[in-house]
Amino acid sequence: MPMSFQLKFSPQDVVDADWVNEQFAKSAGFDAHTCKVVWRKKSLDARGRAPFFLITADVYVTGELLEAELGYRLKSVEKASPVHIIGAGPAGLFCALELIELGLKPIVLERGKAVKERRRDLAIMNREKVVNPDSNYCFGEGGAGTYSDGKLYTRSNKRGPVQKVLQCLVDHGAPDSILYDAHPHIGTNKLPQLVEGIRETIVAHGGEIRFETRVDGLVMESDRIVGLRLNGGAIEKVDKVVLATGHSARDIFEMLVDANIAIEAKPFAIGVRLEHPQSIIDQIQYKCDDRGEFLPPSSYSLVEQVQGRGVFSFCMCPGGIIAPAATAAGEVVVNGWSPSKRNGNFANSGFVVSVDDRDFNDFNAHGELRALRYQQHWEQLAYQTSGSLSAPAQRMEDFIQGKLSRDLPSNSYIPGLVSAQIGDVLSSAVHTRIRESLVVLGKKMKAFRTNDAILVGIESRTSSPVRIPRHSVTLTHPQILNLFPCGEGAGYAGGIMSAALDGIRVAQAQI
Ligand SMILES: Cc1cc2nc3c(=O)[nH]c(=O)nc-3n(C[C@H](O)[C@H](O)[C@H](O)COP(=O)(O)OP(=O)(O)OC[C@H]3O[C@@H](n4cnc5c(N)ncnc54)[C@H](O)[C@@H]3O)c2cc1C
Repeated sequence: MPMSFQLKFSPQDVVDADWVNEQFAKSAGFDAHTCKVVWRKKSLDARGRAPFFLITADVYVTGELLEAELGYRLKSVEKASPVHIIGAGPAGLFCALELIELGLKPIVLERGKAVKERRRDLAIMNREKVVNPDSNYCFGEGGAGTYSDGKLYTRSNKRGPVQKVLQCLVDHGAPDSILYDAHPHIGTNKLPQLVEGIRETIVAHGGEIRFETRVDGLVMESDRIVGLRLNGGAIEKVDKVVLATGHSARDIFEMLVDANIAIEAKPFAIGVRLEHPQSIIDQIQYKCDDRGEFLPPSSYSLVEQVQGRGVFSFCMCPGGIIAPAATAAGEVVVNGWSPSKRNGNFANSGFVVSVDDRDFNDFNAHGELRALRYQQHWEQLAYQTSGSLSAPAQRMEDFIQGKLSRDLPSNSYIPGLVSAQIGDVLSSAVHTRIRESLVVLGKKMKAFRTNDAILVGIESRTSSPVRIPRHSVTLTHPQILNLFPCGEGAGYAGGIMSAALDGIRVAQAQI
């Protein structure tokens, strides 16, 4: 059994991992050469004047067996029974890996392109402001996860084998630190290669991934899917079908409604991306003028209750950029990511308000698509306001005062910003709560309320506006015996890690 304990280190100390390991060895009463130190948790405590790191590690005496490898044990499934997975996001890819481990052959159908070709479409989107509805920040190999920030915050093992997913990501190129960091982060620059590596593993073991293959319809025989209609052709015979198409596949939700297949409208959250100069957030969090070279760019996590509803920060990206996340022409949607070093000049986060049936009233005629149509309405209004993929934006103090900003500060959003009243692109239930919460937060953290910060509209794809029901044990749709709704789009995940875990769960339900 290893000795497990925690030590405290200054930010300078943790830069030298060997030295840290020596301190663990010494504290355990060993020479560093006669034992192995494995970090289990690393967290930063910045509450006091002098921030410090807490590291928990296991010290193994050399020769003692380390615990069993947690990663995948894969065999060839080339000739095994096929399972069709629609969508190659984290849910679809981890479902595929798990199926291989269980001896089934995944065939993944993905509307978007492989990572390299997808990158070109993103460049066009940023430069020429043209959205490809099949290849964008949400659609393509790796789904919304590939050009995401790569924060992996689900730690609860109740949802599934978190360490197995983390180990798999490390085996495909993620830094070891995600195995022990309290707030693991991969970074957008590292994710594309990692996703390609996962594809290679799937294919090397007999699975298939077909790109530019959009599923447009289901061929039904009584309560089973027997075939799939594709953008170019069809698949005549399917056995089990996993639907992991993400929260932005509106055509899939529409197709289900048209086919009288039950879905349910669901609450989500909507608001803006807030962007500050990173130095302001560092000053607030570290209580100093300059964070120096050893402390990481700081972040925040904020929640306020305003007029009976939650207003909260979401997907904070220190040193990051604001990204265009629209999936169709005529809409503006923003999101955020940061590179692994988080070394940009700005800190952005979603700043959103929960919305539910009280807000969707005007869209009731759309039935179970009412939350989706509400979401689409504000995204389209944002587009009409700016006239292009440029996003409507307002300085924070101007927004609080209700004044149009005369100019906008330098910022990270590449397609460009247009000065507008943010109150015009969000419902009053949403923008009044955002305003009120900023006033409250400005009292708690003086520097937070500043005209050097901007609100960029609109952050609307926080989670799926739809849930696709499924049986709690078989995980199949109540009407269709061989359809497995999966991941974020079906309403069972909210982020990379939980989507991957749901993919694993759905794979395990099939045997
Ligand atoms: C910019 C950005 C930053 C983010 N940052 C983070 C973060 O730091 N941490 C975090 O946890 N989450 C983050 N997210 C969210 C995260 O990416 C998603 O929660 C996650 O990817 C959901 O996984 P999924 O597999 O359920 O769906 P998705 O990743 O959405 O994948 C669905 C896939 O299905 C495909 N598809 C859709 N329709 C069809 C069809 N008809 N036929 C075939 N294929 C289809 C799509 O092309 C897509 O590839 C971010 C998202 C974005 C956009």
